[in-house]
This record gives sequence, structure tokens and C-alpha cells, in this order.
Amino acid sequence: MKIEKNTVATVTYSLRVDGELIEETGKEKPLTFLAGVGMMIPGFEGQLIGKKPGDNYDIKVAPEEGYGLVNKEAIIDLSLDIFKVDGVLREDMLQIGNVVPLQDQNGNPLQGVVKEVGDDTVKMDFNHRLAGKELSFTGEILEVREATPEEIEHKHVHGPGGHQH
Ligand SMILES: [Zn+2]
Repeated sequence: MKIEKNTVATVTYSLRVDGELIEETGKEKPLTFLAGVGMMIPGFEGQLIGKKPGDNYDIKVAPEEGYGLVNKEAIIDLSLDIFKVDGVLREDMLQIGNVVPLQDQNGNPLQGVVKEVGDDTVKMDFNHRLAGKELSFTGEILEVREATPEEIEHKHVHGPGGHQH
């Protein structure tokens, strides 16, 4: 059967950005997802609708349909004090391009990339690392089946590649 809303699709995929391989999943550990519930990025899922097992795909996803555009408000100057441990500046953390795990006011984990280091502040970019990027996906459709009523209710896949409960 073909991929459509409320089907469970099993696919391989490679994700490339600017020609660089970001993620790859082959037949040993394919991606299984429930279509039509917003589980996947919209530009990925939308372009796989209508494909069937044995089909290959080669699709491009614009930033708006992928991880979003770069949000300038998510690029923030932080005080250098945040990078001091016991009064000593952790210069090893402050290399340009370094990904630093931090927390927001509510204690939620955040990842920021070091963009610039000034005398008192550090410019950090909290955008998703793939924000503003065109995504290029290639892969093969391995399997498509109808979702069970329970899966549709839970909005996720049960069994292999999904939730085990
Ligand atoms: Zn469930």
C-alpha cells in the first residue's frame, strides 16, 4: 500500500545539508513513523505521501518546511561569568563553533553554539543547528502498513521501531 495519513511507513534515509552527510539510517535500523500526525518534519512527510515499498526518493525540503528559519532573537549575548567555574574561565568551552549545553530559566536543557567571544560577553546561537538550511533526503520505502486504531489514538507507532507498551 501507499504512504498516506494513518499509515505506518518504514524507510531508510540519508540526510545531507550543503552536501555534508548529517544522518543516515540503513536497512538494519530503519526509520518507522506514523504518517499524518505531525511526528515528522512536514516537508519530509508531505513529499513521501503516495510512495510505496520499493520506491526510492530524493527530495529537498526548504527551511520553512524543515527546521525553520534562523531566528535572530535566538542569537544572544551572554555574560562571560556563565562560563566561569569556581571563578576560573573555562576557555576550553569558548572555542568558536563549540556546542555548549546550558539551561534556560526553567531548567530546560538548551544547546548553544559559540559564535563570538568578546571581553565581557559571548555571542551564543540557540537556533537548531539545521535552521535556515535546505535539507536533502534520499532513501527507500521498505514497508507500509495501516496503523492500528490504538496507534492512531496514541499518535505513535507500536512494535518494532516504535513504542513497546
Ligand atoms: Zn502507545
